[in-house]
Amino acid sequence: MTKPVFGDDDWIARKHALKSLKGSLKGLEAMHARYGARPGHTCGDCVHFIVNSGHERNYFKCALYGVTNGPGTDWRKKNAACGKWEQR
Ligand code: SF4
Repeated sequence: MTKPVFGDDDWIARKHALKSLKGSLKGLEAMHARYGARPGHTCGDCVHFIVNSGHERNYFKCALYGVTNGPGTDWRKKNAACGKWEQR
């Protein structure tokens, strides 16, 4: 990868693409790298957004990203939607 130059807008895109290839992007960043963004929408309105009821509170998850019992797959309603967004 070439060295970044100040004002080089492609640098961030290349960095994300490389991280994505290495599998090091996580969460929403990974979803945006894989599928792009869906401006004007949030995850809370997406059909893939799910709510798991816990003992003391609800846990939000993205079914497409993957669901575990750990915090690594916790999601936010107000996340900017990815390209896989579908109206709930
Ligand atoms: S828009 Fe839907 S599919 Fe995309 S990250 Fe949000 S919940 Fe997941």
